Amino acid sequence: MSDHQPTIFDKILSGEIPSYKVYEDDHVFAFLDIGPLSEGHTLVIPKERKAQLHQLSDESAAALGRVLPRLCRAVMNATGATAYNVLQNNGSAAHQVVMHVHFHIIPKFGGQGLGIGWPAGKLSESTARDLLDKMRRALEA
Ligand code: 5GP
Repeated sequence: MSDHQPTIFDKILSGEIPSYKVYEDDHVFAFLDIGPLSEGHTLVIPKERKAQLHQLSDESAAALGRVLPRLCRAVMNATGATAYNVLQNNGSAAHQVVMHVHFHIIPKFGGQGLGIGWPAGKLSESTARDLLDKMRRALEA
């Protein structure tokens, strides 16, 4: 049994709610965002019902990775954009609203598109070493 809470994207996947479909294969579905930040704003989702990226199976992750650059090229070709952001939010604190994994492809046209705050800090040697230690252990687990 899945602990996934149903979202609007389930209804889009099932066709219960219409969408402007850009692309579909066995694992992936892409469609135009209903509230675009710029023309061509596209959402790319796995058919696997998981809320956040770290919960996805390798199979879904690989399928998404395989097709994302192709979809970015399609968005660029269709809109003439030469710059774009790929955004993927996880958790409401990180601005995720729909709790089904999704990648935004957002063309950038001057001021139109994604605005980003980037309050960069400084990485200290001790913090880096501590993080590496913990992350490598997590990867081995
Ligand atoms: P999040 O903030 O979760 O990363 O973004 C969710 C995105 O889904 C938003 O950009 C929003 O406009 C889009 N969205 C929400 N509901 C619908 C819908 O019913 N249809 C489409 N096409 N997009 C939706």
